[in-house]
Amino acid sequence: MSPRTRHVAVIGAGFAGLAAALRLAQAGARVTVLDALERPGGKAALGYEDFSSGPTVVTMPQVFRGLHARLGLELPPLEAARPTTTYHAPGGRTFAPEALHVAGSLEPTLAQLSRQEARDYTRLLRAARRMYRDAAPTFLFGPPPSRLQLARYALTRGYRAAPWQSLARFVRSGPFLTPFWLRFATYLGADPYRAPAVLHNISWVELGDGVWHLEGGLGALAGRLHARAAALGVRFEFGTRVQLLSAHGGRVLGAHTSRGAFAADAWVSAADRALTRGWLGLPPDRAPRGLSGFALQLRLAADRGHAHHIFWPADYAREWRDLRAGRLPGDPTLYLHLDGDRAFLLVNAPARPEIAGNPREYGGFLLRQLQARFPLEVSEWQPLSPADYARTGVGGALYGQAPHGLRGSLRPGWRLPGARNLVQVGGTVHPGGGVPLSLLSGWNGAGQLLGLGYDDLGDRDVPGDDETWATWVP
Ligand SMILES: Cc1cc2nc3c(=O)[nH]c(=O)nc-3n(C[C@H](O)[C@H](O)[C@H](O)COP(=O)(O)OP(=O)(O)OC[C@H]3O[C@@H](n4cnc5c(N)ncnc54)[C@H](O)[C@@H]3O)c2cc1C
Repeated sequence: MSPRTRHVAVIGAGFAGLAAALRLAQAGARVTVLDALERPGGKAALGYEDFSSGPTVVTMPQVFRGLHARLGLELPPLEAARPTTTYHAPGGRTFAPEALHVAGSLEPTLAQLSRQEARDYTRLLRAARRMYRDAAPTFLFGPPPSRLQLARYALTRGYRAAPWQSLARFVRSGPFLTPFWLRFATYLGADPYRAPAVLHNISWVELGDGVWHLEGGLGALAGRLHARAAALGVRFEFGTRVQLLSAHGGRVLGAHTSRGAFAADAWVSAADRALTRGWLGLPPDRAPRGLSGFALQLRLAADRGHAHHIFWPADYAREWRDLRAGRLPGDPTLYLHLDGDRAFLLVNAPARPEIAGNPREYGGFLLRQLQARFPLEVSEWQPLSPADYARTGVGGALYGQAPHGLRGSLRPGWRLPGARNLVQVGGTVHPGGGVPLSLLSGWNGAGQLLGLGYDDLGDRDVPGDDETWATWVP
């Protein structure tokens, strides 16, 4: 290890910061993690202590397996969610797709659709797989791509991602299925009507490879990673808010924090990239912020098992008109995660922390909306508004800048000007938002600081690569 990376400060104890701290500590660095919150987990660590306050959908199980293997930790059981999610249309129709690799066939999914819908579903799933396979090596399982790599992707495969088309046009497939396909773009904070067609690849991760239930949930995973890091000697300074980074000669020398000055040889910022830019005195990015969320953590009177549900509004496009106007939607898409005697209800919200007013009021409205469609006995609940999520990122945006337009869908890289000894990681930069990608980014950003090669934490096999695919598609 270079003497310049002996003492590393990691800002942020979310999934990316924890992964970075662990890799650095395993390599023998002295590591201190600074976080403004009181406990590890970042976006998963607000509200009730025994709940995740954010991530509930587990995808890319190979990343979790790989990380646990690298750390010598035992991974709790991971079970495939069957179906992936149940979708409820306002008229009472439901759709419960099975992930192709889990079910081993498309038949149970297609049997729920009309003949035309089944044709569209197969066509769009095929397109999602193709886009994912084309994009994954460059945009997910490697360091931030160079200009040359981008040009190579654009020339050899990029044209197959329909760069001239919007997502909304690309996935047009009738009133029942179109919102279904559009919604996957929100996993990166996009307004689906402003997203490029290439974001359609996100759906493959869930519908091809599967959604998983991780025993204990993602909040517990953060606790496990934190305990492992502490056992390796990582020091955690919770309740420490970074206010400014002082740099000289292209290197960051120290941080001004709410608990005094702090010095280190090298830095990982695993906080929102927009915050890091501000601390370094760099001008803000011009790209608009992506979506925030409004959530309820619900304690239930009885154990309701494990499941994901989506309840569509009467008019999906109208929800987006509300969000674009900066309003909380009057008739939002409801996402519900059931996890034993706990549940998590989430709707899209604009990244405007001031918007919620009295969060219990809108929260109560959401609860009534849910109970009208899905009876659920709730013993206790609390709301989490964009103002709560703003504690972990600018404006409460869950994934940083909005991935709109073709350029917007490229996630920013890991370096910032004037800070050669700082690596920026996490859900607001490459390879993107979501827990598995944030873990990959933290692990590999730290690897870059240590001069190590890229480690994709799993196997490079892109789901859907095997030849059995051909027999699965009728
Ligand atoms: C409601 C919601 C639902 C989601 N659903 C899913 C899902 O189902 N599946 C999925 O995979 N992902 C989901 N996500 C996204 C996922 O949670 C994030 O992409 C991921 O947790 C990001 O991790 P991170 O470590 O990059 O950032 P964060 O978790 O944001 O961590 C950043 C850390 O930096 C700290 N910090 C910020 N400012 C300062 C400061 N000034 N000083 C010191 N520390 C600071 C914060 O306190 C925080 O702990 C969801 C997110 C939310 C909020």
